[in-house]
Amino acid sequence: MTETIKFDSLGLAPALLKALTDSGYTTPTPIQVQAIPLALAGGDLMAGAQTGTGKTAAFALPLLQKLLPLANNGASPAKHPVRALILTPTRELAIQVEESVKAYAKHTPLRSLVVFGGVDIRTQTPHLKTGVEILVATPGRLLDHIEQKTVQLNQVQILVLDEADRMLDMGFMPDLKRILALLPKQRQNLMFSATFSNDIKKLADDFLTNPQLIEVARSNATNDNVTQIVYPVAQSDKEALLIQLLKNSDSKQVLIFTKTKITASRLSRSLARVGIAADAIHGDKTQQERIKALDAFKAGTATVLVATDVAARGLDIDQLPMVINYEIPSAPEDYVHRIGRTGRAGALGVAISFVSPEEDKYLLEIEKLIKRQISKEIIAIDQPSPRSRTSKPSHAQSGSVASNQDASATKRIPVRKKSSDPWFDKPYEAVVAQQKTADTPRLNNKAPVAALLGGLQANK
Ligand code: AMP
Repeated sequence: MTETIKFDSLGLAPALLKALTDSGYTTPTPIQVQAIPLALAGGDLMAGAQTGTGKTAAFALPLLQKLLPLANNGASPAKHPVRALILTPTRELAIQVEESVKAYAKHTPLRSLVVFGGVDIRTQTPHLKTGVEILVATPGRLLDHIEQKTVQLNQVQILVLDEADRMLDMGFMPDLKRILALLPKQRQNLMFSATFSNDIKKLADDFLTNPQLIEVARSNATNDNVTQIVYPVAQSDKEALLIQLLKNSDSKQVLIFTKTKITASRLSRSLARVGIAADAIHGDKTQQERIKALDAFKAGTATVLVATDVAARGLDIDQLPMVINYEIPSAPEDYVHRIGRTGRAGALGVAISFVSPEEDKYLLEIEKLIKRQISKEIIAIDQPSPRSRTSKPSHAQSGSVASNQDASATKRIPVRKKSSDPWFDKPYEAVVAQQKTADTPRLNNKAPVAALLGGLQANK
């Protein structure tokens, strides 16, 4: 049972244990319980774990522990060669992973750095030249550094492929092959993936040596800590309903998903107009704009962040209480990813989906995938948009229909009582290996990473 296992029984060094205490972690998550001892033993690992399971610490802690004997305080860059390389599909994930690595390494002399595309490469080179033991990178930018000879990888002894399935989806296979060919043959490989498609199995066959397989996340299941609700609503009423909900909600942070970049931008402007602090994050935004928006959201100066699926990949926001699907995704797996942003690490969360009659077919697909019906509630709108003042959702559903008279008292969103982290104890349910139609176009491997984050997803 995970309750009885403590970090100090996993064989971690005091400097790392101290950093974990500083981070407020008391108990390792299941992926950490399984991965840390195996990774410390030195073999390759193929781990099935989604974002939100604690997977970053699951690879970062053993990695740091293995590098500790080589750590030194010397100033010379030669004393700090890159010994561990962590590859991630998106810059947001890269930034977050490196932040975690830094936090766990804070009581050690080990140095880390993150490099990603979309920013001037020259700003990264001086940091690389000072020497870092742990390098977190997106594949395209790493290749740029390799070409410019600003990084040496001949001392890498540990490679981590984080969100490997996402990297393949985003067309990074050629880049990965080029990078992996440059690494020393003798090394430890740790691969993390939310799904085990045939492509992922092939990647594992090609690059891992006798990997230990561990599976803790549930690919197609949703977290029991998350209360899911569907609000049937006409498309033209969604904005009014959203404003009403946000004004009545006491959530400090709400992540809203839209299908398109245009809707994300328009919606964040509409919300700002009615006094709701909102910003948008999508592929047309510059790297600086995204970081600014994310920082404002994390700091609580923006209460609402509107995002597209691609831009939201890898966002790690602690204790996010609410996710709203302004439009539900046509790919049901994206629903699972979206609502996985809330209810993390055992916290409670609410996931609301606005579903128009046109979207009913997608809802059915989602319910099939997660093997449960999502409860529906109809909420009357105080101030419907003029176009649909008399319109009612044409697809009356089970649930309480509020009249317009009592609509002002918009329902408080019910939040289920906290249980004892049941999600962490659930067994992994393997995905039926289905060849996903790539939700991001296969890209020329020299495409800037900015484009990979949604910029090329015209109207998606
Ligand atoms: P990850 O799956 O690595 O993105 O982690 C999800 C969230 O869980 C992050 O906010 C971590 O800081 C947090 N976390 C990771 N491990 C633990 C732990 N053992 N106890 C509490 N929180 C954790």
